[in-house]
Formats: sequence, structure tokens, C-alpha cells
Amino acid sequence: MEKIQLLEECKDAKNIFISGHVRPDGDCIGSCLAMYLYLRKALPEAVVKVSLEEPSEVFRCIKGFDEIDGTYAVDGEVDVFIALDCEKSRLGEAEEIFANARKRINIDHHVSNERGCGDVNYIVAGSSSTAELVYELFDRQYMDAEIAKAVYIGIVHDTGIFNYSNTSPKTLRAAAELIEYGFDFTEVIDETFYEKTYTQNQLLGRALLESIMFMGGKCIVSVIDKKTLDFYNASSKDLEGVINQLRITKGVECAIFMYETGNLEYKVSLRSCKYVDVRKVAAFFGGGGHVRAAGCTINGTFYDAINNISKQIELQMKEYKEKNKKME
Ligand code: 5GP
Ligand code: MN
Repeated sequence: MEKIQLLEECKDAKNIFISGHVRPDGDCIGSCLAMYLYLRKALPEAVVKVSLEEPSEVFRCIKGFDEIDGTYAVDGEVDVFIALDCEKSRLGEAEEIFANARKRINIDHHVSNERGCGDVNYIVAGSSSTAELVYELFDRQYMDAEIAKAVYIGIVHDTGIFNYSNTSPKTLRAAAELIEYGFDFTEVIDETFYEKTYTQNQLLGRALLESIMFMGGKCIVSVIDKKTLDFYNASSKDLEGVINQLRITKGVECAIFMYETGNLEYKVSLRSCKYVDVRKVAAFFGGGGHVRAAGCTINGTFYDAINNISKQIELQMKEYKEKNKKME
């Protein structure tokens, strides 16, 4: 998809509203704050707002974090709405504001959002992160260390620190440019990625201890129920990283992590290593994401959910096996 002229698209706007997906992750928060800092600098006349649902405190190190409005309040009409890292159905409370905005811009890298949901779209499914895309659109004359740091954090989180297969030479070139702006790139990785609270470690420990391998060790699943979350006074933010640890279990192709969000309702995270397209699996249950990392919400008992997910994974594994046989 062709690059968009971001400043040109926003130049007449008095009110600009930026938001991303519910349960925002590092890429979502990083790209929203980078966009916020950038537009405030490049378009000082405009009123720029950023709203997100309860961002994790670890991202407080990004400038502008305190200005994120969790109430989704709007003053008057929104001239330009910038939806980042998602399609409109995942905007949560911001979806209505998006629908009523004069102009909608959508920047995303999810395969499941192929065409984009804006009037103006910049969707590149192969890109590592929305942060990388946002950076491509920024006029370098307005860049500074704080904007660079926000972008870098976004990229770092969606690439598992330049480790996942979505990392490209272009990603690394962008990262090299970004660190030249001069922020502490070691500290931001420790603070936002590696550091875990005691509660997070305890929950991770439980999830690993109670995990189950199946399909001859090719799959691993773990679940945290509501009672456990309540016992630790924890929320979904405290479960960040569990799925990554499950995924790196030796021999595993596909990792599944579920946590109970309500009565007979589970939020599901899926990861794969080499060949299972987990986006396809998630899409079967109304979710989405990327080929190697996706998610969905499933209603029913844990056993029903895992049975149904396994069936979808098994289908792909069979297909893969047959394809390989033919090639032999
Ligand atoms: P996570 O497992 O970390 O929550 O999500 C992995 C990836 O899948 C992320 O890119 C996230 O945006 C996407 N994702 C997670 N849950 C959903 C969902 O319910 N619907 C859609 N469309 N994407 C999801
Ligand atoms: Mn992302």
C-alpha cells in the first residue's frame, strides 16, 4: 500500500483524536504516543488527544504517558481520528468517536485488517509493527529523542526485541536510526520488557507449572481462571509474557494461553513457531492477529474451548504433513 501524506491529511484539522486497540500492548501504546508527540510538535495549532484503555504502568517511561485519557472524552467534533494498530471493531470505547469523525486515518500491520477501515489507510501486513509504519510516515525534521524512544518501544515489543520472524532488515535500519536520536535504549528494554512484578512472576510460575503438553508435545496449553486472578488481585496486564514462555518450550509448534474474563468466557492468546497459521485459527473464532501471534475470545468451558482450538490446529498440522510428504 502506498505511503500516505500524514501532515497533509491533518493540516486543516483543529481536533485530532488518536487511539488504538483495547488491552493495548507495547506497539499500540508506543505508536499512539509517538503519533501524539509528533503531531503536537508538527502541528502546534491543533488540539491533539490520545485515549487508550488502561495502559500498563511500565510504559510510563514514554513521554506523554500521563496525558493518555482513559475517559475517551471529546470536546466538540473530531476532524481527524487516527486509529492505530487495529481495525475499528477493536477500538472499544473509541469506536463511536471514530464513526463520527470527519476524517478517519487507519495505520496498521494486522493481516486481518487487509484493506483498512479508514477514509485514508496505510496498512502493511508484512511490517514488524505499527510503530515501524508510523515512523515511516514521520517527517524527519520533527523527530526527536522522545518520539524515537516511543517508536523504538513499539518495535521492540512487537518483534520480541528483534527476534520474531516479522523483523526485517528495514526494521533494523529503522531501529539503528532511532537509537541515533540518543535515548537509553537498554533501559527501556529492561523497564518495559524484562522487568516483572512479583505478582507477574507468581502467575507465570503457576501457568507454567499447570501447563499441559498435547498432540505428542507439539502443542502446549495453560489457563488461569478468574479465581486465581482475583486471589492475586491481578489483571490481564499481569499475564504479559506468559505466552512467550510457553512458546519456547522445546518441541512445541503451537502455544495456547487462556485466561477467564467472565463466566464461561476466555481470552485466548495463540503463538506458533514455524508453520501453523494462528491468525487462521483465531479468525475461526472471530479473532485475528498475525501468522505467528494471534488472539480471540471464546465462550464455553475451558475443555470445550481447548477441544475446538485443537481441532483447528490439527487440521493445519495434517495439511502441513501431507504437503511435506508430497514434496519428499
Ligand atoms: P495477544 O495474544 O498478545 O493478546 O495478541 C496477539 C496478536 O493478536 C496481537 O497483534 C493482537 O492485536 C491480536 N489479537 C489478540 N486478540 C485479538 C482479537 O480478539 N481480535 C483480533 N482481531 N486480534 C486480536
Ligand atoms: Mn502491533
